[in-house]
Order: sequence, then structure tokens, then C-alpha cells
Amino acid sequence: MMASERPSKTVAVIGAGPYGLSVAAHLRRLPPVVLGEPMESWRAMPAPMFLKSVWSASSLADPDGRFTLDRYCDASSRGREPIPLEMFVDYGRWFQRQAVPDVDPTKVIRLGLADRGRFRLELEDGRVLEAGTVVLATGIREFAYLPEFARSLPGSLASHTGDHASFSRFRGCRVAVVGAGQSALETAAMLAEEGADVEIISRRSVIWIKRVLYARGGPISRLLYPPTDVGPPGLNWICAAPLLMSRMPVDIRRKIEVRSTRPAGAQWLRPRVDGRIPVTEGVEVTEAHPTGRALRLRLSDGTVREVDHLLLGTGYRPDVRKVPFLDDELRKRVREADGFPVLNQWFESSVPGLHFVGGLAGRTFGPICRFVAGARVAAQQVSRRLGELN
Ligand SMILES: Cc1cc2nc3c(=O)[nH]c(=O)nc-3n(C[C@H](O)[C@H](O)[C@H](O)COP(=O)(O)OP(=O)(O)OC[C@H]3O[C@@H](n4cnc5c(N)ncnc54)[C@H](O)[C@@H]3O)c2cc1C
Repeated sequence: MMASERPSKTVAVIGAGPYGLSVAAHLRRLPPVVLGEPMESWRAMPAPMFLKSVWSASSLADPDGRFTLDRYCDASSRGREPIPLEMFVDYGRWFQRQAVPDVDPTKVIRLGLADRGRFRLELEDGRVLEAGTVVLATGIREFAYLPEFARSLPGSLASHTGDHASFSRFRGCRVAVVGAGQSALETAAMLAEEGADVEIISRRSVIWIKRVLYARGGPISRLLYPPTDVGPPGLNWICAAPLLMSRMPVDIRRKIEVRSTRPAGAQWLRPRVDGRIPVTEGVEVTEAHPTGRALRLRLSDGTVREVDHLLLGTGYRPDVRKVPFLDDELRKRVREADGFPVLNQWFESSVPGLHFVGGLAGRTFGPICRFVAGARVAAQQVSRRLGELN
């Protein structure tokens, strides 16, 4: 459809992961144009993976709660933890078919400004759309963080954990995994189970999340753990209230964020790592040099490793300046702080009509934005702004 055919009240949601789909499901009177491959990021993750998040924190959001994980599953798998990746992907696609049947999988290659405050979206197939409101829900994959020493290494020798849908090619290889978060630890377990010779190298000691009393359920468990389950007991209730968090001073928000998202592994993963995979804690990789088809690593304790591959479980650092399809002029008009767009209570940036949900909203609304559990409040706020919810 050409630009001139689209009314300015068109809402475009860019992204069809948990956040984009949840926002779109809330916009019923103004059905938006939804762009992006449904659940694409999750489909690119390694199949044997499990979700770190608990059952109550893993539903996408629709206004009436008709399409929750509970509604999707039959009695035999309801409440099953950890949640297998495959089941979650199937659930997300079911949610999409039920709540947002009309999704256009085409990628946006450029988002800029049109006249009269509207937005111009250029799609990879050559189409151009105009919209009065844009919700950017493209996730965090573009923001994979690589430490300085690894940036110039060839992909055959070093890669980010997020680059792999399978680890079978590492069978029989020596692999060092850097990091102690869930991705690093689960990647190490999957590599070892594929027959790789793995070592975990971490600056900090490995922490396994203890949810004391969680498994027992009941009122004490409900008191200690809100359904969103982001952050340790006490802080988890603050993280569960992102609108409240957005009103706190930024340095307090930052402290809550750091404490609530420190690298740690889920308890169910522990038996696949402890005693099976060597863990070198309290050191970091300081240098990495290719030596033919292998890589020589120098560690901060003065020791050296020779490996066939280095896998970096070093996380993601959302940065609005790095959104690949944001046009320069529009980017300059988005006020940012520490790389995050500054947002009002409607998840709207300094450019009226341009909303950011998911990881890029984290500086304003806290760590819940990094997880599926944050999709509900984002969807509600955006839809309130557009007059859909009271
Ligand atoms: C290994 C790993 C494990 C995780 N485990 C959990 C977990 O257990 N629980 C949890 O809550 N969170 C987990 N997360 C975090 C998870 O990524 C987020 O919770 C969730 O996926 C965020 O949803 P989203 O919709 O913002 O982004 P995504 O799910 O990444 O979706 C992004 C969407 O944007 C689309 N898109 C991207 N670029 C464009 C473009 N240019 N044009 C159009 N569309 C585009 C994609 O096709 C996709 O549809 C995990 C993350 C990783 C990396």
C-alpha cells in the first residue's frame, strides 16, 4: 500500500515478539499494522533450551486474559517448569494466531519522519507506509555485547551465545564460555551435552538462584514472589510495579536494576553444570590471539588456554543509537540518556507518537522490561495513550 493511501491515525507496531504481539492485542479498535516475523528471536534460540522465567511470568498479554499460557496448555503440561523453549514458541505463535491474526512478516529497513509529525516506514520489499503512531518492539538481539578484546576476532573463533541455534558443530572441540549468567551457563551445559570439551570462565562466582519456599506454593510463597518474578525477594515487588519505579530517582532505579539482574543460573540447571563442567571463577580473559585454527586466551590470573572457540555469554546492552533502521534525523530527535530513550508514562519518547517497549524502556521502567512479564504494563500504557483502555 502506498503512503498516500494510509490515514495518519494508522498505528504501526514494529516487532512481533512478546512485546509487539501484546501491544497489538490491546489495540482492538485501532487494529495496527504489525510488522515482523512472529516469535523470530525465540525461534532462533537453541532447541534444547528452557526458559529461565517461571510459569506465572511467561504469558503474553491480551486485555481479557483469554490467551494466557494456562489457557494454551492442557492439564498435563500446565505449570510445568522449566518451560521448554519449543512449547513457549508454539504458545507465542498460537497467541499470535488468536489475538493478532494479521501480522506482516516484512522487515522495516528505515523509519523516519514524514510531514505533519507522521512517520515513514520503508519495508525491505520496497513498500512505504505512513503512520501517526509507531511502537518500536524489536527486542534486544541487535545489542549483543562483545568485550573489547573479542571485537576483532573472526566469527569462526569467537561468537556471542545469541548467534547460535545449535551447538552440534562444536562436538569434539575445546570451547571456553565466558560469563556466569543463565545464557552462559545453559550454553555451557548444551555444549557439554553435545560432546564439546567446555570450560566456564567467569569474573564472579557462579550464583544459583535460590527460591526458598517458592516450590511449596501457598500464601508465603505468594507473599515472597509476585507472579512477575523479576529480582530478589523484597525488590521483586518494586520491579513488579514499573510505573512506580519510573518515578524513582534514576540512581535508585539503577541500583535496583543491578541487584535484580545480576548474573545467575536457574536452580534446575545446576545438576547439568556442577561437577560436570570445570568453572574458573574470579578471572577474566584479557587477551585473545588467533593461532592458526585455534585461539590463545590469556587470563587475568596469568594462565593461558588454547581453545577452538570462545563463546561470549556477555549479555545485551540496549542502545537506541544502535537501532539499525532508525533514520539519522529521527534518531537525533529522540532524547536519550545512557543510550536509552527518555520515556513518559505512556512509553512515549520525546518524539510524539514514537513509543519504545521491551529492553529499550528499561532505564525508565526497570528490569521487568527485559522479560516477557513486562509486556502487560507496556501494552496497557500504550493502549491507554491511544484511547483504548481507561
Ligand atoms: C537466550 C535468551 C533467553 C531468554 N530467556 C528469557 C526467559 O526465560 N524469560 C523471559 O521473560 N525473557 C527471556 N529472555 C529475554 C527475551 O528476549 C525477552 O523477554 C523477550 O523476547 C522480549 O520480547 P520483545 O518482543 O521485546 O523482543 P523479541 O522477542 O526479540 O522480538 C522482536 C521482534 O521484532 C522483530 N523485528 C526485529 N527487527 C525488525 C525490523 N527491522 N522490522 C520488523 N520487525 C523486526 C522480530 O522479527 C521479532 O518479531 C531471554 C533472552 C535471551 C537472549
